[in-house]
Amino acid sequence: MTTIKASCPTCGEVELTSRDITLRVCNHAPLSYYCFECPACTEEIRKPADDHIISLLMSGGVRAQVWEIPAEALETHDGPALSYDDLLDFVLQLSAHDTLSVAAGGRTRT
Ligand SMILES: [Zn+2]
Repeated sequence: MTTIKASCPTCGEVELTSRDITLRVCNHAPLSYYCFECPACTEEIRKPADDHIISLLMSGGVRAQVWEIPAEALETHDGPALSYDDLLDFVLQLSAHDTLSVAAGGRTRT
């Protein structure tokens, strides 16, 4: 089995096998990463994986797992963040109107 050298921020260079490494390739390339448990300190090390690193790891026998980030997670948002007051106002609005509950197929309060 191929020996793969990686680095732990604490322990420095460590030797791994393809089975020790998890490669997660994302449809949004900057979020692809690989991770492994350091054999010396047992910390989980997670590092970004660009195309070059993905190719190297796969040529060393690491299997790629594909994951997709939901499009909503990449949307840019303007305006202030939702506050607790906003949430409370929303809950009060929901309790005053059963329209949403009816639309969702739930029963209205009697
Ligand atoms: Zn370590």
